[in-house]
Amino acid sequence: MPNSLLYSHLYAWYEANRRVLPWRETSDPYAIWLSEIILQQTRVAQGMEYYMRFIARWPRVEDLAAADEAEVLREWQGLGYYSRARNLHKAAQTVVTNGWSPFPARFEDIRSLPGIGDYTAGAIASFAYNQPYPAMDGNVYRVVARLLDIDEPFDTSAGKKHFHQAIDTLLDRENPRLFNSAIMEFGALQCTPSLGDACLTCPLQAQCLAYAHGTAELLPVRKPRPKVRDRWFTYHIYTKGDETLIRRRENPKDIWYHLYEFPCEESPEEPLAISPSPLAFTHVLSHQRLHARFIVHRVQKMPDIAGTIRIRWEELNDFALSRLTLRALDTLRRKA
Ligand code: SF4
Repeated sequence: MPNSLLYSHLYAWYEANRRVLPWRETSDPYAIWLSEIILQQTRVAQGMEYYMRFIARWPRVEDLAAADEAEVLREWQGLGYYSRARNLHKAAQTVVTNGWSPFPARFEDIRSLPGIGDYTAGAIASFAYNQPYPAMDGNVYRVVARLLDIDEPFDTSAGKKHFHQAIDTLLDRENPRLFNSAIMEFGALQCTPSLGDACLTCPLQAQCLAYAHGTAELLPVRKPRPKVRDRWFTYHIYTKGDETLIRRRENPKDIWYHLYEFPCEESPEEPLAISPSPLAFTHVLSHQRLHARFIVHRVQKMPDIAGTIRIRWEELNDFALSRLTLRALDTLRRKA
């Protein structure tokens, strides 16, 4: 078997180093699923507390399906990303409605549940049913990139495909549960993002191509992050009686195309501070950081500004407004 040396070193390391985690000591698919959802974007120590609470309160999938969504959200409080809790509840109901209790065993059925992607489906299929599916979490991507010296970004769709083909050549089809548990733990504890001296004591050194080529510290590779551009907007809120001025954004290549906002000037750099200090926000988008300030002008006569329309304040809600405008209005209303 080509990977037998890799498996024997990896499993010996795992036996000696693995943490005892309750969800790794069970083959109950419901408990494993709960733990996987709770642990997404959550540290193990914090996740443990929630896992214990959930499993004590709703020990079977039928119990969770019968719970009120509000109850589930309340129990979830503090973990953030509430869509995970909503999907958890919805998935429990789907399992019961489809007659899949305690949990589906077919990979395709598991994968079809709300909130379950390839990683979680692979984790449940392998940990609960010992089925030969990989469970590629961030730790596993890193270990695979280093073992096989793959310098392709793993977070693009082409990269993901390549990594899935790569793990396919490594996966232990006889012992997928053990293999997935061991390689995940190995990534979490030994082959960590910053390696220090880890390679010197690593039992997989002889099998590791990145170690042989001196590239381990450089892997895995992510796709280049887009540079974030700073922009400075000064919005002018003119108000006269019950009227104000708004304008539609007309540049199809820019943000908020065809949405309405107060007349605005954009400066290439941070504008000078003014007094009294206006309402100010920073609004972060994926490629841009917008620094916006809103200045209220109570005027006797509305200025003549190209492209603006004059409306009554109460008509504002009839227009599709930019996110930033809504944020400013919200703050102004709370201050009023
Ligand atoms: S030798 Fe270093 S990079 Fe390679 S698997 Fe071991 S810890 Fe990871």
